[in-house]
Amino acid sequence: MAKKTFYITTTAPYVNADPHIGFALEIVQADVLARFNRLIGAKVAFGFGTDEHGLKIYRKALEAKKDPLQYCKEFSSRFDDLKKTLNLSTTHFIRTTDEAHMKAAQELWRRCFKNGDIYKKNYKTKYCVGCELEKTDSELNAGKCPIHPNLVIEIIEEENYFFKFSKYQKRLLQLYEDHPDFVVPDYRLDEIEAFVKSGLEDFSVSRLKNKMPWGVPVPDDPDHVMYVWFDALVFYISTLGWPDEKGDYSIFWPGMQVAGKDNLRQQSAIWQAMLMSAGLPNSTQIFIHGFITSNGQKMSKSLGNVVDPFKLVKKYGTDAVRYYLLKEIPPADDGDFSYRRMDEVYNSDLANELGNLVSRLTTLAEKDEIKTIGNWQLTIDNRTKELFNSFQFNLILELIWKEIKALNKAIDDFAPWKKSPEERKDFLLQCFKTLKSISYNLQPFLPETSEKILKVIKGKVKKIAPLFPRLTPSPSQIYTI
Ligand SMILES: [Zn+2]
Repeated sequence: MAKKTFYITTTAPYVNADPHIGFALEIVQADVLARFNRLIGAKVAFGFGTDEHGLKIYRKALEAKKDPLQYCKEFSSRFDDLKKTLNLSTTHFIRTTDEAHMKAAQELWRRCFKNGDIYKKNYKTKYCVGCELEKTDSELNAGKCPIHPNLVIEIIEEENYFFKFSKYQKRLLQLYEDHPDFVVPDYRLDEIEAFVKSGLEDFSVSRLKNKMPWGVPVPDDPDHVMYVWFDALVFYISTLGWPDEKGDYSIFWPGMQVAGKDNLRQQSAIWQAMLMSAGLPNSTQIFIHGFITSNGQKMSKSLGNVVDPFKLVKKYGTDAVRYYLLKEIPPADDGDFSYRRMDEVYNSDLANELGNLVSRLTTLAEKDEIKTIGNWQLTIDNRTKELFNSFQFNLILELIWKEIKALNKAIDDFAPWKKSPEERKDFLLQCFKTLKSISYNLQPFLPETSEKILKVIKGKVKKIAPLFPRLTPSPSQIYTI
Protein backbone atom coordinates (compact mmCIF):
# COMPACT_ATOMS: atom_id res chain seq x y z
CA MET A 1 0.00 0.00 0.00
CA ALA A 2 1.23 3.47 -0.84
CA LYS A 3 2.24 5.57 2.13
CA LYS A 4 -0.18 8.30 3.16
CA THR A 5 1.17 11.69 2.08
CA PHE A 6 0.90 15.06 3.78
CA TYR A 7 1.87 18.44 2.36
CA ILE A 8 1.95 21.58 4.46
CA THR A 9 3.12 25.11 3.79
CA THR A 10 3.20 28.43 5.55
CA THR A 11 2.54 31.67 3.71
CA ALA A 12 5.46 33.24 1.85
CA PRO A 13 6.53 36.32 3.85
CA TYR A 14 7.54 39.55 2.10
CA VAL A 15 11.25 40.15 2.22
CA ASN A 16 10.98 43.81 3.20
CA ALA A 17 11.97 43.23 6.84
CA ASP A 18 13.62 40.63 9.07
CA PRO A 19 11.54 37.60 10.11
CA HIS A 20 9.37 38.49 13.06
CA ILE A 21 7.89 36.47 15.87
CA GLY A 22 4.48 36.19 14.18
CA PHE A 23 6.01 34.32 11.27
CA ALA A 24 8.08 32.24 13.69
CA LEU A 25 4.79 31.17 15.29
CA GLU A 26 3.31 30.23 11.93
CA ILE A 27 6.25 28.16 10.82
CA VAL A 28 6.68 26.43 14.19
CA GLN A 29 2.98 25.48 14.12
CA ALA A 30 3.47 24.08 10.62
CA ASP A 31 6.59 22.23 11.76
CA VAL A 32 4.69 20.54 14.60
CA LEU A 33 2.10 19.30 12.11
CA ALA A 34 4.79 18.11 9.70
CA ARG A 35 6.63 16.24 12.45
CA PHE A 36 3.43 14.77 13.87
CA ASN A 37 2.41 13.42 10.47
CA ARG A 38 5.86 11.86 9.99
CA LEU A 39 5.54 10.27 13.41
CA ILE A 40 2.28 8.58 12.44
CA GLY A 41 3.86 7.26 9.27
CA ALA A 42 2.98 9.74 6.53
CA LYS A 43 5.36 10.81 3.79
CA VAL A 44 5.63 14.55 4.40
CA ALA A 45 6.54 17.59 2.33
CA PHE A 46 6.86 20.87 4.22
CA GLY A 47 7.38 23.96 2.12
CA PHE A 48 7.97 27.61 2.62
CA GLY A 49 9.38 30.46 0.63
CA THR A 50 9.77 34.18 0.26
CA ASP A 51 7.54 36.63 -1.59
CA GLU A 52 9.85 39.01 -3.40
CA HIS A 53 7.91 41.05 -5.95
CA GLY A 54 5.64 44.09 -5.74
CA LEU A 55 5.72 47.81 -5.16
CA LYS A 56 6.59 47.65 -1.46
CA ILE A 57 9.78 45.67 -2.01
CA TYR A 58 10.68 47.62 -5.14
CA ARG A 59 10.55 50.89 -3.20
CA LYS A 60 12.43 49.48 -0.21
CA ALA A 61 15.21 48.30 -2.51
CA LEU A 62 15.42 51.69 -4.20
CA GLU A 63 15.48 53.37 -0.80
CA ALA A 64 18.38 51.15 0.22
CA LYS A 65 20.05 51.99 -3.13
CA LYS A 66 20.21 48.32 -3.99
CA ASP A 67 19.41 46.22 -6.99
CA PRO A 68 16.01 44.66 -6.11
CA LEU A 69 17.22 41.13 -6.72
CA GLN A 70 20.29 41.62 -4.54
CA TYR A 71 18.11 43.24 -1.86
CA CYS A 72 15.73 40.26 -1.92
CA LYS A 73 18.57 37.77 -1.80
CA GLU A 74 19.91 39.23 1.45
CA PHE A 75 16.53 39.15 3.18
CA SER A 76 15.57 35.80 1.77
CA SER A 77 18.62 34.21 3.34
CA ARG A 78 17.51 35.59 6.72
CA PHE A 79 14.28 33.64 6.31
CA ASP A 80 16.16 30.55 5.24
CA ASP A 81 18.20 30.94 8.48
CA LEU A 82 14.99 30.30 10.45
CA LYS A 83 15.26 26.67 9.42
CA LYS A 84 18.32 26.11 11.57
CA THR A 85 17.41 28.57 14.32
CA LEU A 86 13.97 27.08 14.97
CA ASN A 87 14.97 23.50 14.02
CA LEU A 88 12.40 23.25 11.24
CA SER A 89 11.90 20.07 9.26
CA THR A 90 11.14 21.89 6.01
CA THR A 91 11.76 19.97 2.82
CA HIS A 92 11.02 22.58 0.14
CA PHE A 93 11.91 26.25 -0.18
CA ILE A 94 11.35 28.60 -3.10
CA ARG A 95 11.82 32.30 -3.79
CA THR A 96 9.24 33.93 -5.99
CA THR A 97 12.10 35.44 -8.02
CA ASP A 98 13.34 31.92 -8.86
CA GLU A 99 13.08 31.10 -12.54
CA ALA A 100 11.05 27.95 -11.80
CA HIS A 101 8.50 29.88 -9.77
CA MET A 102 8.12 32.64 -12.37
CA LYS A 103 7.49 30.01 -15.06
CA ALA A 104 4.84 28.40 -12.84
CA ALA A 105 3.13 31.77 -12.27
CA GLN A 106 3.09 32.40 -16.02
CA GLU A 107 1.67 28.95 -16.73
CA LEU A 108 -1.11 29.49 -14.19
CA TRP A 109 -1.86 32.86 -15.81
CA ARG A 110 -2.07 31.21 -19.23
CA ARG A 111 -4.53 28.63 -17.96
CA CYS A 112 -6.79 31.22 -16.32
CA PHE A 113 -6.54 33.36 -19.47
CA LYS A 114 -7.42 30.41 -21.70
CA ASN A 115 -10.39 29.73 -19.49
CA GLY A 116 -11.64 33.27 -20.15
CA ASP A 117 -11.00 34.46 -16.60
CA ILE A 118 -8.46 37.18 -17.34
CA TYR A 119 -9.49 40.29 -19.26
CA LYS A 120 -8.35 43.89 -19.73
CA LYS A 121 -10.07 47.03 -18.45
CA ASN A 122 -9.45 50.58 -17.32
CA TYR A 123 -9.49 51.04 -13.64
CA LYS A 124 -8.97 53.41 -10.78
CA THR A 125 -8.59 52.28 -7.20
CA LYS A 126 -7.37 53.18 -3.77
CA TYR A 127 -4.37 51.08 -2.84
CA CYS A 128 -2.40 50.33 0.33
CA VAL A 129 1.21 49.53 -0.54
CA GLY A 130 1.72 48.11 2.97
CA CYS A 131 -0.91 45.39 2.32
CA GLU A 132 -0.32 45.37 -1.45
CA LEU A 133 -4.13 45.36 -1.65
CA GLU A 134 -6.89 47.48 -3.14
CA LYS A 135 -9.03 49.15 -0.52
CA THR A 136 -12.67 50.15 -0.64
CA ASP A 137 -13.84 53.15 1.37
CA SER A 138 -15.52 50.87 3.90
CA GLU A 139 -12.15 49.20 4.58
CA LEU A 140 -10.48 52.50 5.40
CA ASN A 141 -10.38 54.32 8.68
CA ALA A 142 -10.53 58.10 8.16
CA GLY A 143 -8.94 57.52 4.76
CA LYS A 144 -6.14 55.32 6.15
CA CYS A 145 -5.49 51.58 6.12
CA PRO A 146 -6.18 50.33 9.67
CA ILE A 147 -3.13 48.01 9.48
CA HIS A 148 -0.84 50.71 8.05
CA PRO A 149 -2.08 54.03 9.48
CA ASN A 150 1.28 55.65 8.71
CA LEU A 151 1.06 55.05 4.97
CA VAL A 152 -0.71 57.27 2.49
CA ILE A 153 -3.44 55.49 0.51
CA GLU A 154 -2.44 55.75 -3.16
CA ILE A 155 -4.62 56.08 -6.21
CA ILE A 156 -3.84 53.71 -9.05
CA GLU A 157 -5.32 54.55 -12.43
CA GLU A 158 -4.38 52.53 -15.49
CA GLU A 159 -5.49 49.85 -17.92
CA ASN A 160 -4.85 46.47 -16.33
CA TYR A 161 -5.70 42.84 -16.59
CA PHE A 162 -8.46 41.64 -14.29
CA PHE A 163 -9.26 38.24 -12.82
CA LYS A 164 -12.91 37.15 -12.90
CA PHE A 165 -13.16 36.53 -9.18
CA SER A 166 -16.93 37.18 -9.26
CA LYS A 167 -17.44 34.10 -11.44
CA TYR A 168 -16.32 31.84 -8.56
CA GLN A 169 -18.72 32.98 -5.85
CA LYS A 170 -21.00 29.93 -6.12
CA ARG A 171 -18.20 27.41 -6.42
CA LEU A 172 -16.39 28.87 -3.42
CA LEU A 173 -19.53 28.72 -1.29
CA GLN A 174 -19.99 25.12 -2.44
CA LEU A 175 -16.42 24.33 -1.44
CA TYR A 176 -17.03 25.68 2.08
CA GLU A 177 -20.31 23.82 2.35
CA ASP A 178 -18.82 20.51 1.20
CA HIS A 179 -15.86 20.83 3.56
CA PRO A 180 -17.03 22.29 6.87
CA ASP A 181 -13.46 22.12 8.19
CA PHE A 182 -11.90 23.67 5.09
CA VAL A 183 -10.95 26.68 7.22
CA VAL A 184 -10.10 26.22 10.92
CA PRO A 185 -11.12 27.68 13.37
CA ASP A 186 -14.79 27.58 12.35
CA TYR A 187 -15.40 31.29 13.01
CA ARG A 188 -12.84 32.04 10.32
CA LEU A 189 -14.80 29.86 7.92
CA ASP A 190 -17.93 31.85 8.85
CA GLU A 191 -15.99 35.04 8.21
CA ILE A 192 -14.83 34.04 4.73
CA GLU A 193 -18.23 32.62 3.86
CA ALA A 194 -19.88 35.93 4.79
CA PHE A 195 -17.31 37.79 2.69
CA VAL A 196 -17.91 35.62 -0.39
CA LYS A 197 -21.70 35.77 0.11
CA SER A 198 -21.57 39.57 0.18
CA GLY A 199 -20.45 39.50 -3.46
CA LEU A 200 -17.04 39.24 -5.12
CA GLU A 201 -15.46 41.87 -7.30
CA ASP A 202 -13.02 41.10 -10.06
CA PHE A 203 -9.60 42.40 -9.14
CA SER A 204 -6.64 43.71 -11.08
CA VAL A 205 -3.86 41.17 -11.62
CA SER A 206 -1.31 43.26 -13.49
CA ARG A 207 0.61 46.52 -13.30
CA LEU A 208 1.99 48.68 -16.08
CA LYS A 209 5.64 47.75 -16.38
CA ASN A 210 6.86 51.28 -16.99
CA LYS A 211 5.42 52.35 -13.62
CA MET A 212 6.28 49.23 -11.60
CA PRO A 213 8.73 46.86 -13.29
CA TRP A 214 9.37 44.56 -10.30
CA GLY A 215 7.14 41.60 -11.10
CA VAL A 216 6.74 38.46 -13.19
CA PRO A 217 6.25 39.40 -16.88
CA VAL A 218 2.71 38.82 -18.10
CA PRO A 219 2.78 36.16 -20.83
CA ASP A 220 2.49 37.63 -24.33
CA ASP A 221 2.23 41.26 -23.16
CA PRO A 222 5.55 43.02 -22.55
CA ASP A 223 3.82 46.13 -21.16
CA HIS A 224 2.56 44.42 -18.00
CA VAL A 225 3.91 42.58 -15.00
CA MET A 226 1.77 40.46 -12.68
CA TYR A 227 0.17 41.78 -9.53
CA VAL A 228 2.27 40.47 -6.63
CA TRP A 229 -0.45 38.37 -4.99
CA PHE A 230 -1.33 36.61 -8.23
CA ASP A 231 2.29 35.60 -8.62
CA ALA A 232 3.02 34.81 -4.97
CA LEU A 233 0.06 32.53 -4.31
CA VAL A 234 1.33 30.15 -6.99
CA PHE A 235 4.24 29.34 -4.68
CA TYR A 236 2.11 26.68 -2.95
CA ILE A 237 2.47 24.52 -6.05
CA SER A 238 5.66 25.88 -7.62
CA THR A 239 7.52 24.56 -4.53
CA LEU A 240 6.37 21.11 -5.66
CA GLY A 241 7.73 21.62 -9.16
CA TRP A 242 4.39 22.41 -10.84
CA PRO A 243 3.69 22.75 -13.83
CA ASP A 244 5.65 19.50 -14.02
CA GLU A 245 2.76 17.28 -13.00
CA LYS A 246 4.83 14.12 -12.63
CA GLY A 247 7.16 14.86 -9.74
CA ASP A 248 6.47 16.04 -6.18
CA TYR A 249 3.31 17.81 -7.34
CA SER A 250 1.70 14.49 -8.26
CA ILE A 251 2.72 12.99 -4.92
CA PHE A 252 1.80 15.85 -2.59
CA TRP A 253 -0.83 18.20 -4.01
CA PRO A 254 -3.41 19.04 -2.69
CA GLY A 255 -2.01 20.12 0.65
CA MET A 256 -2.82 22.24 3.65
CA GLN A 257 -1.77 25.80 4.47
CA VAL A 258 -1.09 27.66 7.68
CA ALA A 259 -1.67 31.42 7.55
CA GLY A 260 -2.29 34.46 9.73
CA LYS A 261 -5.73 35.99 10.13
CA ASP A 262 -4.75 38.85 7.80
CA ASN A 263 -4.32 36.26 5.06
CA LEU A 264 -7.76 34.67 5.27
CA ARG A 265 -9.15 36.11 2.02
CA GLN A 266 -6.08 35.51 -0.07
CA GLN A 267 -5.68 31.88 1.01
CA SER A 268 -9.23 30.66 1.36
CA ALA A 269 -10.94 32.62 -1.43
CA ILE A 270 -8.57 34.22 -3.98
CA TRP A 271 -6.11 31.33 -4.23
CA GLN A 272 -8.92 28.78 -4.28
CA ALA A 273 -10.65 30.64 -7.15
CA MET A 274 -7.34 30.76 -9.05
CA LEU A 275 -6.95 27.00 -8.65
CA MET A 276 -10.51 26.45 -9.87
CA SER A 277 -9.88 28.67 -12.86
CA ALA A 278 -6.70 26.78 -13.76
CA GLY A 279 -8.50 23.44 -13.36
CA LEU A 280 -6.38 22.32 -10.41
CA PRO A 281 -7.54 20.70 -7.15
CA ASN A 282 -8.24 23.01 -4.20
CA SER A 283 -6.17 23.01 -1.02
CA THR A 284 -7.24 20.45 1.56
CA GLN A 285 -7.43 22.76 4.56
CA ILE A 286 -6.40 26.17 5.83
CA PHE A 287 -5.48 26.74 9.44
CA ILE A 288 -5.61 30.38 10.54
CA HIS A 289 -3.61 31.67 13.50
CA GLY A 290 -3.82 35.03 15.28
CA PHE A 291 -1.33 37.79 16.02
CA ILE A 292 1.18 38.13 18.84
CA THR A 293 1.24 41.26 20.94
CA SER A 294 4.27 42.39 22.87
CA ASN A 295 3.38 42.66 26.55
CA GLY A 296 -0.18 43.61 25.62
CA GLN A 297 0.73 46.10 22.90
CA LYS A 298 0.83 45.86 19.13
CA MET A 299 4.44 45.38 18.03
CA SER A 300 5.88 48.28 16.14
CA LYS A 301 9.30 49.63 15.30
CA SER A 302 8.41 53.04 16.68
CA LEU A 303 7.43 51.58 20.08
CA GLY A 304 10.66 49.57 20.09
CA ASN A 305 8.82 46.44 21.23
CA VAL A 306 9.38 44.20 18.22
CA VAL A 307 10.41 40.71 19.32
CA ASP A 308 13.20 39.20 17.24
CA PRO A 309 13.04 35.39 17.07
CA PHE A 310 16.81 35.11 16.49
CA LYS A 311 17.62 37.05 19.67
CA LEU A 312 15.09 35.01 21.58
CA VAL A 313 16.62 31.71 20.51
CA LYS A 314 20.09 33.01 21.35
CA LYS A 315 18.97 33.75 24.90
CA TYR A 316 16.67 30.81 25.68
CA GLY A 317 17.48 28.11 23.12
CA THR A 318 15.41 26.73 20.26
CA ASP A 319 13.17 24.34 22.18
CA ALA A 320 12.32 26.90 24.87
CA VAL A 321 11.15 29.36 22.21
CA ARG A 322 9.18 26.64 20.42
CA TYR A 323 7.61 25.70 23.74
CA TYR A 324 6.53 29.27 24.47
CA LEU A 325 5.00 29.72 21.01
CA LEU A 326 3.10 26.43 21.16
CA LYS A 327 2.02 26.49 24.79
CA GLU A 328 1.50 30.15 25.63
CA ILE A 329 -0.03 31.40 22.38
CA PRO A 330 -3.56 30.07 21.81
CA PRO A 331 -3.07 28.32 18.42
CA ALA A 332 -5.96 30.01 16.58
CA ASP A 333 -6.26 33.24 18.54
CA ASP A 334 -4.19 36.26 19.43
CA GLY A 335 -1.59 35.75 22.13
CA ASP A 336 1.03 37.70 23.99
CA PHE A 337 4.77 37.58 24.41
CA SER A 338 6.64 39.15 27.29
CA TYR A 339 10.11 38.44 28.67
CA ARG A 340 8.65 38.19 32.14
CA ARG A 341 6.33 35.38 31.08
CA MET A 342 9.08 33.76 29.01
CA ASP A 343 11.34 33.65 32.10
CA GLU A 344 8.51 32.23 34.21
CA VAL A 345 7.69 29.51 31.72
CA TYR A 346 11.33 28.66 31.18
CA ASN A 347 12.03 28.32 34.89
CA SER A 348 8.87 26.51 35.94
CA ASP A 349 7.90 24.25 33.04
CA LEU A 350 11.24 23.60 31.43
CA ALA A 351 13.99 23.90 34.05
CA ASN A 352 12.06 22.81 37.18
CA GLU A 353 9.57 20.31 35.82
CA LEU A 354 10.97 18.63 32.70
CA GLY A 355 14.67 19.38 33.18
CA ASN A 356 14.72 18.43 36.83
CA LEU A 357 12.75 15.24 36.21
CA VAL A 358 15.24 13.95 33.67
CA SER A 359 18.21 15.03 35.69
CA ARG A 360 17.15 13.34 38.96
CA LEU A 361 16.13 10.10 37.22
CA THR A 362 19.29 9.78 35.17
CA THR A 363 21.51 10.63 38.16
CA LEU A 364 20.01 7.82 40.25
CA ALA A 365 20.06 5.40 37.32
CA GLU A 366 23.74 6.00 36.57
CA LYS A 367 24.59 5.36 40.21
CA ASP A 368 22.61 2.10 40.19
CA GLU A 369 23.82 1.10 36.71
CA ILE A 370 20.24 0.78 35.47
CA LYS A 371 19.69 -0.65 32.02
CA THR A 372 16.34 -0.02 30.32
CA ILE A 373 14.68 -2.68 28.21
CA GLY A 374 14.32 -1.66 24.60
CA ASN A 375 10.96 -3.04 23.60
CA TRP A 376 8.46 -0.62 25.10
CA GLN A 377 5.96 0.00 22.33
CA LEU A 378 5.06 3.60 21.76
CA THR A 379 2.22 5.19 19.81
CA ILE A 380 0.32 8.45 19.81
CA ASP A 381 -3.03 7.87 21.50
CA ASN A 382 -6.33 8.75 19.85
CA ARG A 383 -7.10 11.68 22.09
CA THR A 384 -3.79 13.31 21.21
CA LYS A 385 -4.40 12.60 17.52
CA GLU A 386 -7.74 14.34 17.74
CA LEU A 387 -6.12 17.34 19.39
CA PHE A 388 -3.54 17.46 16.60
CA ASN A 389 -6.26 17.28 13.99
CA SER A 390 -8.00 20.24 15.63
CA PHE A 391 -4.65 22.08 16.01
CA GLN A 392 -4.87 22.38 19.81
CA PHE A 393 -1.14 22.30 20.41
CA ASN A 394 -1.40 24.05 23.78
CA LEU A 395 -3.81 21.41 25.10
CA ILE A 396 -1.54 18.56 24.02
CA LEU A 397 1.35 20.20 25.90
CA GLU A 398 -0.89 20.62 28.93
CA LEU A 399 -1.62 16.89 28.88
CA ILE A 400 2.06 16.04 28.56
CA TRP A 401 2.92 18.38 31.41
CA LYS A 402 0.30 16.72 33.60
CA GLU A 403 2.23 13.50 33.13
CA ILE A 404 5.53 15.20 33.88
CA LYS A 405 4.11 16.67 37.10
CA ALA A 406 2.58 13.34 38.09
CA LEU A 407 5.90 11.59 37.56
CA ASN A 408 7.74 14.19 39.62
CA LYS A 409 5.18 13.74 42.38
CA ALA A 410 5.47 9.95 42.25
CA ILE A 411 9.24 10.32 42.71
CA ASP A 412 8.79 12.71 45.66
CA ASP A 413 6.30 10.31 47.27
CA PHE A 414 8.44 7.21 46.79
CA ALA A 415 11.66 9.05 47.76
CA PRO A 416 13.96 6.62 45.95
CA TRP A 417 17.06 8.29 47.41
CA LYS A 418 16.03 6.90 50.81
CA LYS A 419 15.83 3.36 49.43
CA SER A 420 18.43 0.77 48.56
CA PRO A 421 19.36 0.17 44.89
CA GLU A 422 17.46 -3.16 44.98
CA GLU A 423 14.35 -1.50 46.41
CA ARG A 424 14.26 1.22 43.80
CA LYS A 425 15.16 -0.71 40.66
CA ASP A 426 11.61 -1.57 39.55
CA PHE A 427 10.41 1.89 40.45
CA LEU A 428 13.08 3.53 38.29
CA LEU A 429 12.36 1.21 35.37
CA GLN A 430 8.69 2.16 35.61
CA CYS A 431 9.64 5.85 35.66
CA PHE A 432 11.75 5.42 32.53
CA LYS A 433 8.89 3.75 30.77
CA THR A 434 6.68 6.77 31.47
CA LEU A 435 9.49 9.18 30.60
CA LYS A 436 9.99 7.41 27.29
CA SER A 437 6.32 7.83 26.46
CA ILE A 438 6.47 11.52 27.47
CA SER A 439 9.52 12.11 25.27
CA TYR A 440 7.93 10.27 22.37
CA ASN A 441 4.90 12.55 22.51
CA LEU A 442 7.11 15.60 22.85
CA GLN A 443 8.97 14.92 19.59
CA PRO A 444 6.88 17.20 17.33
CA PHE A 445 7.14 20.06 19.84
CA LEU A 446 10.66 19.87 21.31
CA PRO A 447 12.54 17.73 18.79
CA GLU A 448 16.05 18.29 20.14
CA THR A 449 15.13 17.80 23.80
CA SER A 450 13.09 14.66 23.19
CA GLU A 451 15.87 13.19 21.07
CA LYS A 452 18.38 13.81 23.87
CA ILE A 453 16.12 12.13 26.43
CA LEU A 454 15.29 9.16 24.25
CA LYS A 455 19.00 8.66 23.57
CA VAL A 456 20.14 8.86 27.19
CA ILE A 457 17.51 6.45 28.52
CA LYS A 458 18.18 3.83 25.88
CA GLY A 459 20.10 0.87 27.35
CA LYS A 460 22.57 1.77 30.09
CA VAL A 461 21.36 5.10 31.47
CA LYS A 462 23.89 7.93 31.90
CA LYS A 463 23.51 11.10 33.89
CA ILE A 464 22.46 13.91 31.56
CA ALA A 465 23.69 17.52 31.51
CA PRO A 466 20.90 19.99 32.43
CA LEU A 467 18.45 20.19 29.51
CA PHE A 468 17.40 23.71 30.44
CA PRO A 469 20.17 25.34 32.50
CA ARG A 470 18.82 27.87 34.96
CA LEU A 471 18.78 31.41 33.68
CA THR A 472 21.26 33.62 35.43
CA PRO A 473 19.14 36.57 36.46
CA SER A 474 20.71 39.99 36.25
CA PRO A 475 20.86 41.67 39.71
CA SER A 476 17.87 43.89 39.02
CA GLN A 477 16.00 42.39 36.15
CA ILE A 478 14.06 45.12 34.41
CA TYR A 479 11.37 44.02 32.02
CA THR A 480 10.74 46.60 29.36
CA ILE A 481 8.50 44.30 27.33
ZN1 LIG B 1 -2.43 48.25 4.63
